[in-house]
Amino acid sequence: MLVFSGNKILVKNGTYDLEGKYISGLEVINRSEDLPQNWQALTSWADLKDSSALPEGSELVGLRDLWHLSGDEAFTRASGALQFASWFRNVRICSRCGGKLTPHNHDYGRECESCGAVYYAPISPAVITAVEREGRLLLAHNTAWTEDRYSVIAGFVEPGERLEEAVRREIREEVGISVKGIKYFGSQTWPFPNSLMLGFTAEYEAGEIQPDGNEISRAGFFTPEEIRGMNIPDKASIARKLIDSFLSVN
Ligand SMILES: [Zn+2]
Repeated sequence: MLVFSGNKILVKNGTYDLEGKYISGLEVINRSEDLPQNWQALTSWADLKDSSALPEGSELVGLRDLWHLSGDEAFTRASGALQFASWFRNVRICSRCGGKLTPHNHDYGRECESCGAVYYAPISPAVITAVEREGRLLLAHNTAWTEDRYSVIAGFVEPGERLEEAVRREIREEVGISVKGIKYFGSQTWPFPNSLMLGFTAEYEAGEIQPDGNEISRAGFFTPEEIRGMNIPDKASIARKLIDSFLSVN
């Protein structure tokens, strides 16, 4: 059972409890083990009761730390458990009528006992794209990041939009160029708080780079040598996997 305190995970003596063993002496609430049987196929979770002291030798770590401790599979499972846990914490009643929500016993939904509205844990798809131009990779600096940080272009998919359209729109909006040859790369759950990152590669088509000045303040096509000396995202992220994939063949 993964034990959360907010968005942090309890880790004891350098390991966490992904396999259902219980860390003794803890006071927990919101246990997934109390949900209907079908929910038990998920990685189980509980929230640490605020007043519960941490057991000796334990600490609370973020999901990125968990990735560094144990890699993609643990990150993915913990991400799912954390997103369900957050949903149960934050959505407690029906937003239409205020009625009580009851977990389904056939899927991972919850249903209002009064009006029948059905809810599922939210997932927000976002596209993230590595754009290449003649052996150089497009990287941009987001104004929300530390000064020298660069990454590939990312943004949320809008309602009614195909993924390829979202890729083209985000790149056009943020740096003013058009792309072609969009190919799927892979995906990653990104629970900050509930994104699903869908990775793509693309080729430069036309236009001059013009950062939007709002979200993106600087952008350019960089050589592999330049990129190796830059402040780029952590290895836990699909952004880094896209950059590393470019570097591996250039
Ligand atoms: Zn309702």
